[in-house]
Amino acid sequence: MSRPDSVIVNGLVRQALVSAEEVMGANGLNAVLRTSGLERYIDNLPPNDMNPAIKTSDYAHLNQAIEEFYGRGGRGMLRRIGKASFQYGVREQAALLGIAGAAIKLLPEKQRIRFILNGMVNALKKSNAEVDAWVDEGGERLAYIERTCAICWGRSSDTPVCHLYVGSITEAVLWATGVEHVITETHCLARGDEYCRFEVGEARA
Ligand SMILES: [Zn+2]
Repeated sequence: MSRPDSVIVNGLVRQALVSAEEVMGANGLNAVLRTSGLERYIDNLPPNDMNPAIKTSDYAHLNQAIEEFYGRGGRGMLRRIGKASFQYGVREQAALLGIAGAAIKLLPEKQRIRFILNGMVNALKKSNAEVDAWVDEGGERLAYIERTCAICWGRSSDTPVCHLYVGSITEAVLWATGVEHVITETHCLARGDEYCRFEVGEARA
């Protein structure tokens, strides 16, 4: 069953493109903008606002174009872009993420992780009321789940493909705890699962 197409707002497209340019350089970014039909953003980033910018399907094509542009290195590049993307969020969208003035240093680690994952869920929901995402606190490990994941829209794959998301969550958990944790995409819509699920695992030694 195919999912209905939706929209991504300017602010999130800007965040993705700024981050992609940081990691790929301008030439790399321009190449993938051309192959994914988004030439209009070459040297012309969208503003940082909540107006609709592109269709979810375009955003998924952009992710796929980056993956294909780098071949075997695509997954690592997407993770790096995801990390840069969360850093951009901290710099430019602290209020949206709910982290402006937040004092979480004294909280236990699990609560800090829960705090930032909920911040990401809420920010995404503010950008699009159709977003269906939540933090799963029921299991032994915390997990971030989205049923409306834009990254893998329309894709099908034997293995999870939302590498940019893994990068963003990795950076978010690092921000909250000061320690990098292993983030694993255990479920992916592209694989026929009912949602994309990212589990927060052990701290890296
Ligand atoms: Zn996904």
